[in-house]
Amino acid sequence: MLNVTLEKTATAPNRTIIVGAGMAGLAASIALSSKGEDVTLLETRDYPGGKMREISSKAGGIDSGPTVFTMKYIFDELFEMAGARVEDHVTLEKADVLARHAWDKSGHFDLFADRQRSVESIETFFDAENAQGYQNFCKDAGAIFNTLRETMIGAQRPSPLELSKRIGFINIRALLGLKPLNTLWGALGQYFPDQRLQQLFGRYATYVGSSPYLAPATLMLIAHVEQEGVWFIKGGMHKLAKAMQDLAELQGVKYRDNSCVKNIMVQNGKVGGVILEEGEILTANKVIYCGDVSALTPEFLSNKTIGNYQVPRNKRSLSALTWSMTAKTNGMDLHRHNVLFSDDYKLEFDSIFKQGNIPKKPTLYICAQDRNDQFEKTCEGEEERLLCLVNSPAFGDERNLSLDELQSCSDDMMKIADQCGLEIKPSQQTITQASQFEKLFPGSGGALYGRASHGWTASFARAGAETKISGLYLAGGSVHPGPGVPMATMSGMLAAEKILA
Ligand SMILES: Cc1cc2nc3c(=O)[nH]c(=O)nc-3n(C[C@H](O)[C@H](O)[C@H](O)COP(=O)(O)OP(=O)(O)OC[C@H]3O[C@@H](n4cnc5c(N)ncnc54)[C@H](O)[C@@H]3O)c2cc1C
Repeated sequence: MLNVTLEKTATAPNRTIIVGAGMAGLAASIALSSKGEDVTLLETRDYPGGKMREISSKAGGIDSGPTVFTMKYIFDELFEMAGARVEDHVTLEKADVLARHAWDKSGHFDLFADRQRSVESIETFFDAENAQGYQNFCKDAGAIFNTLRETMIGAQRPSPLELSKRIGFINIRALLGLKPLNTLWGALGQYFPDQRLQQLFGRYATYVGSSPYLAPATLMLIAHVEQEGVWFIKGGMHKLAKAMQDLAELQGVKYRDNSCVKNIMVQNGKVGGVILEEGEILTANKVIYCGDVSALTPEFLSNKTIGNYQVPRNKRSLSALTWSMTAKTNGMDLHRHNVLFSDDYKLEFDSIFKQGNIPKKPTLYICAQDRNDQFEKTCEGEEERLLCLVNSPAFGDERNLSLDELQSCSDDMMKIADQCGLEIKPSQQTITQASQFEKLFPGSGGALYGRASHGWTASFARAGAETKISGLYLAGGSVHPGPGVPMATMSGMLAAEKILA
């Protein structure tokens, strides 16, 4: 370890160094610079966005991280801080169809942003009882979101007691309505007699890297968030990261790519700056760390710790196995977002969280980036860009799948597509597995969402923005309020709020 500390007499200059230009780091830099703070944003890669990355192909960049853009109001708020509008920086289109779902060759089911259209579509594809269940589900999911929007999602990390206070002890109805002690899967059975709908809405637990069989029913709120709006970003998700970098720089943020932070300097319980991989020292009296919280080892922190926030192996969230490809497709008409389900959902999550294996029969998510809301291909030629994704255990620091193992996973993935009447013929592909995600996001083991949201206490086990080291703040998907593009963005805004306070 480079054991460099500040000289006893030296005082770190009044500036903020942000480590990592993912959504959280970019958001924090915009929020702080809009209030006149002196900000340097350091990123180890040569592109901004972190997980919001694209992989190049002969057909152009393929979105190979997040693809579903929700909770636009958080970005409206962020851009407004800088006197800007999101719409002036990226071209957005609100989707009518949230996603297309299939279980077999017998047809597909579309979920719509318009609730009434979904009710009708459920009544046609399933039956009236499930349609009624959906209406009840929407009401309850909306209520959970409304209870938590200002008290948890958009606020500094509370303790369980603090959250109850914010909601109001006397508001017993709202507290019980959060269903913290039910599992998501258990709760869904009370709304939907048809298992396929339990699967469809249970999958929202995977948006935070968790199993619907272990996550609290509170996560029903994610369904509500999606119904409030999913937007397509013209040119791909990565355009948003680039737009945020541009906005930050416009406001005076000093952005440095290819700058890997090796240590955060701490002396006398106070932050003093950072040391880069090449040995360069940058001093500052505030540092916001936006990488995975599990990388904050004592070695990284000048032999100090921030407490018990590193995620143990058995508490990690999901990783993924992804194929970023250009391909011809036949059969099932694709939407931008498509979910092809396995026929034994329990087995899939047991395989991941109990046996530690990639499921033989995985649920397959396909983002068909060149498809619009009318299921049309907007690219030229027969080939289109696809991101195919299956869930994987976060074993990236222990296992690197061999070519044979990857081939077998590819075969299993294609079998699910075939079972749903979709033929995929790739001409070029890049596979990313947990070990590569671990390299891209050190400390994570390939877990893409920090700590799994299993059990009602998991959300409270995430670190908040402030740490016990004076001047060191945290942001990102592995800390409060949690993972996902909007949440990570919110965490950056919350860290900035703490500093400005
Ligand atoms: C395949 C995939 C699909 C997903 N799908 C969705 C989706 O559809 N919708 C959604 O909302 N979310 C989705 N997510 C989750 C979402 O992308 C993340 O929760 C969010 O982008 C995390 O942002 P972040 O700022 O916390 O961290 P990251 O994106 O991980 O950014 C951290 C940054 O810090 C940098 N860094 C780390 N350590 C250092 C260091 N020591 N020095 C300098 N730089 C450092 C990294 O290089 C990186 O750029 C998906 C994620 C993946 C991977």
